[in-house]
Amino acid sequence: VIQIKDLTKTYIMGQTQVRALAGIDLNIDTNEYVALMGPSGSGKSTLMNLLGCLDTPTDGHYELDGKDVSKMEDNELAQIRNEKIGFVFQTFNLLPRQTTLENVALPLVYAGVSRSVREARAREVLESVGLGDRTDHRPNELSGGQRQRVAIARALVNNPAIILADEPTGNLDTKTSIEIMEIFEEIHNNGNTVILVTHEPDIAEHAHRIVRLRDGIVESDVRNEEIRRASDPEHRYKQGLSL
Ligand code: ATP
Ligand code: MG
Repeated sequence: VIQIKDLTKTYIMGQTQVRALAGIDLNIDTNEYVALMGPSGSGKSTLMNLLGCLDTPTDGHYELDGKDVSKMEDNELAQIRNEKIGFVFQTFNLLPRQTTLENVALPLVYAGVSRSVREARAREVLESVGLGDRTDHRPNELSGGQRQRVAIARALVNNPAIILADEPTGNLDTKTSIEIMEIFEEIHNNGNTVILVTHEPDIAEHAHRIVRLRDGIVESDVRNEEIRRASDPEHRYKQGLSL
């Protein structure tokens, strides 16, 4: 579903240029579950923003569902976002004055869906993340984990094929992180493509593939089964590898 070739992104700020992505090649199939890792500043958020059509690359190719989105205009990108992408931010990005229900229904406002359909759909997704009884709360009346679930519900509300999450558990305690990861597991089991950024190996464990960035390039790209097998003594024995 995602095909990326030699993607670069250079931020220009006055006299200084920051080369955040220095030539990324990456293909991701429908229904893959990918963890994006790498040190701070390695370009993870930059890549996620490009994947999510929130920004355009400086150079290179990005094909989404067979469409070249690397040179699209803002209004076209917005439409693709609405149709295909759900984005979860580390900082939740919820509107403080709006209720849970209104926050979740927001993408449907942009999509021109009628109010009654919006509310019904928002309620349905909120139920699915366990917040059916918090529809009238405002963000500051919710716990951190609940806010993150509202952000996830909002990302799911227009039924996007691809869910992108930039450190969705970064601000959460372990127990709440596990609950959030169960929601992503379920989203993946429903047939969605899931890509999430994390610094935590325990979180990356949930994914089926780990892509590591370093200095704006892909440093490694491995399936999780390979990692598990490589450290499994029985497998190493069968392969004639030293234990
Ligand atoms: P972290 O793990 O700390 O979130 P990251 O891997 O997400 O890091 P990015 O946010 O993609 O890293 O940043 C990559 C590089 O691009 C950094 O050197 C950063 O300073 C720079 N950068 C990111 N966003 C911008 C921007 N909007 N304008 C200018 N430079 C930027
Ligand atoms: Mg980041």
